[in-house]
Amino acid sequence: MLEKVLIANRGEIALRILRACKELGIKTVAAHSKADKDLMHVRLADESVCIGPNSPTDSYLNIPALICTAEVTYATAIHPGYGFLSENAAFAEQVEKSGFIFIGPKPDVISMMGDKVQAIKAMKKVNVPTVPGSNGLLSDDVKENLDLAANIGYPVIIKASGGGGGRGMRIVYDASELAGAIELTKAEAKAAFNNSGVYLEKFLQHPRHVEIQILADNYGNATHIGTRDCSLQRRHQKVIEEAPAPGISQQKLQAIADVCVKACLDIGYVGAGTFEFLYEEGEFYFIEMNTRVQVEHPVSEEISGVDIVKEQLRVAANLPLSITEQKNITFTGHSFECRINAENSQTFMPSPGTITYLHIPGGNGVRVDSHIYQGYKVPSHYDALIAKLITWGPNRAVAMARMRNALDEFIIEGIDTTIPLLKELMDDPNFAEGGVNIHYLEHKLSGYG
Ligand code: ADP
Repeated sequence: MLEKVLIANRGEIALRILRACKELGIKTVAAHSKADKDLMHVRLADESVCIGPNSPTDSYLNIPALICTAEVTYATAIHPGYGFLSENAAFAEQVEKSGFIFIGPKPDVISMMGDKVQAIKAMKKVNVPTVPGSNGLLSDDVKENLDLAANIGYPVIIKASGGGGGRGMRIVYDASELAGAIELTKAEAKAAFNNSGVYLEKFLQHPRHVEIQILADNYGNATHIGTRDCSLQRRHQKVIEEAPAPGISQQKLQAIADVCVKACLDIGYVGAGTFEFLYEEGEFYFIEMNTRVQVEHPVSEEISGVDIVKEQLRVAANLPLSITEQKNITFTGHSFECRINAENSQTFMPSPGTITYLHIPGGNGVRVDSHIYQGYKVPSHYDALIAKLITWGPNRAVAMARMRNALDEFIIEGIDTTIPLLKELMDDPNFAEGGVNIHYLEHKLSGYG
């Protein structure tokens, strides 16, 4: 097993990684910013090092500071969590070059998946279904682009190859807007991602977001940990996730999951990863692969009993997956995750400040992944996620009932949170039925839902 892991992240995921390390007898180093000195995982880690001031650029994104900290603490591996440097191929490479283990896939795989055009090409090659679109980057030939879009059929979406976080995309409804939209997206992509490459896809109008969690080791074993539906989104940010994706036949889900497992083996993927798909009218369309642990990973853990972070640590230590054969992974029941943010539930204004009173829910099938405690001051410098509330039940209705109870029991005072919105969504009849599309929440919030 690994000896000592440096946790290059903060908040709930840093605590999640710390807990997994402790279970496995691995020593931990919390590398934190000045503002985060009172974080729970900093208190619980074997060692902690303040790596810089509050701004992420100076701390959690500061590669030299992280590498130096690993050196002086004699850490042997670095876990990047999600966000920050987790999908930064240059960081992964630097970690390896400095003699540490990067807990994630190889830098060249991260780099390939970070470039959407390359990722789509790689997926097509291994028979993962993709959205009908341009075969690679768009050229400057206006006529060629018009012919392509006409063949695919409007509306189409222009996307930046180097884009991310829901930015660098433009929908085009009519041929007359196409050339202008391409030029504009290129200019924006150049400014935002320093990469002006754009490509074109059919714009799917009512898709759901369905993703497949996979695990692979260095011994040619790859398995999937089932499906998740993350269609309830605001500004491309997931709000509630569930596993398995409801209302899609077991056969269909099994088939797409099998394709992903095969793709992992074909591209030499190692570690935990997620294939994200849009799902519309019975078809799956690959949009991207995330080469890290995801915020919503607990729902897959709940239905499978597999500890995804512990598997990441095992694979990084060059051990085989603890379950190497798909047939030995069994899925039971249903799980939901609600993301609780320190934000006003109506205006979505960030609400940093001190938590003056806290009551954490509990009971059968309730899990809370969170770093907060009474008296903790939520800083203003980082992501607003303060807790993930996860429930499990033998079926979807029970998991949902448990979530309603748990949301009622969850009391956080001193700051605003999104709990009121989450309660409303758990009472929404369309969501309760299952299978709403990715625009549902935005429509509902704008008063049309
Ligand atoms: P990012 O890396 O910025 O998250 P994605 O390619 O994952 O970009 O797309 C983000 C979101 O944009 C998707 O979840 C979906 O809501 C929307 N989207 C992307 N491509 C399409 C498409 N072809 N049709 C419809 N919606 C799309």
